Amino acid sequence: MLKGKTALVTGSTSGIGLGIARSLARQGANIVLNGFGDVESPKAEIAALGVKVAYHGADMSKPAEIEAMMNYAASEFGRVDILVNNAGIQHVARIEDFPIEKWDAVIAINLSSAFHATRLALPAMREANWGRVINVASVHGLVASAEKSAYVAAKHGIVGLTKVTALENATTGVTCNAICPGWVLTPLVQKQVDAKAAAQGISNEEAKKALLGEKEPSMQFTTPDELGELAVFLCSPAGNNVRGVAWNMDGGWTAQ
Ligand code: NAD
Repeated sequence: MLKGKTALVTGSTSGIGLGIARSLARQGANIVLNGFGDVESPKAEIAALGVKVAYHGADMSKPAEIEAMMNYAASEFGRVDILVNNAGIQHVARIEDFPIEKWDAVIAINLSSAFHATRLALPAMREANWGRVINVASVHGLVASAEKSAYVAAKHGIVGLTKVTALENATTGVTCNAICPGWVLTPLVQKQVDAKAAAQGISNEEAKKALLGEKEPSMQFTTPDELGELAVFLCSPAGNNVRGVAWNMDGGWTAQ
């Protein structure tokens, strides 16, 4: 379905971003990966799906590096048809104890990076009259949790940015939507499981159950592959008129 298209997924060396890259590649899209850590195994995994794969190591907190990444993607593949703004970090602390540099980093990586990548991707999408911008927000784009001020502010912000991007392109073939996962067991969440296990003196399994039990009625983690299939739907012809939506995949978290 996506043969000949190019998808750039930020923060795709791990977790949800890698799951979305995998699903888009299964549909034939060429992939530009981005993110830190091990690059060779995600690259090999995507290449094994029979598509072209490239990588750019832009630090998503730095606008100049984001611009270099977008230029690199255009030079490798002609244009970016699908932009998935996914890179994100978390920091947990009460507002009065929240380190200023952590606030700045969360806002830069989880929110401002999406503005920069989107503004640079839109002109070519509009020229082609086809494009998909998918913002990986969170249930925290819709509701809050204590001790996550920067994350909740950034995720509410990206849901707003999603709506504006959708409206400004509403008469074109370019759509923009947000995906709002509940708990997904990635390294980002494993850190929170570890912190809970250490604080309460409980096992890893008990800490996972406690985390789910606080928020997620299904008592199940959403998987990166499930989120990837939602991204595939948004890229499909059936998604042509889905615009400015914030779509939960959260085991009932926000239904309460
Ligand atoms: P993860 O830690 O597994 O992956 C994060 C990715 O972002 C990695 O590839 C990492 O290298 C990259 N990254 C981090 N900082 C970067 C930077 N400055 N520049 C470039 N890349 C950077 O986390 P994840 O859980 O897969 O999170 C992905 C997205 O999903 C985030 O936006 C997160 O807020 C969101 N999300 C996660 C959950 C969850 O439960 N895990 C729930 C809702 C939303």
